[in-house]
Amino acid sequence: MGLLKAPENTPVWVNESRCKACDLCVSVCPSGTLGMQLDEHKVLGKIVKVIHPESCIGCMDCELHCPDFAIAVADKKEFKFAKLTEDSKQRAEAIRANGFMVL
Ligand code: SF4
Ligand code: SF4
Repeated sequence: MGLLKAPENTPVWVNESRCKACDLCVSVCPSGTLGMQLDEHKVLGKIVKVIHPESCIGCMDCELHCPDFAIAVADKKEFKFAKLTEDSKQRAEAIRANGFMVL
């Protein structure tokens, strides 16, 4: 939890105006919750998306690695996060292998 106000019932969220599309959060997410998506309206031509919020395990790695305070994770007291599954792990690997882009 940082500078962003938490939307209700959401495990992880992005302040797109702060995101510089560096891929770091996607690279560290163990559960394939995040992925980069092409977006021609953004300066870098892509933006991070929360593609599988139901898979987020609340590990905070994305928030802790983001250099721009652009992504935030809900408080464990306020949100019931998922457990890490084989499917999630495999999706995370596939996204990494795909250059961090959404599959
Ligand atoms: S909290 Fe962990 S599982 Fe959830 S999006 Fe961030 S890095 Fe992925
Ligand atoms: S680490 Fe931060 S700046 Fe980089 S892509 Fe993720 S949200 Fe955007």
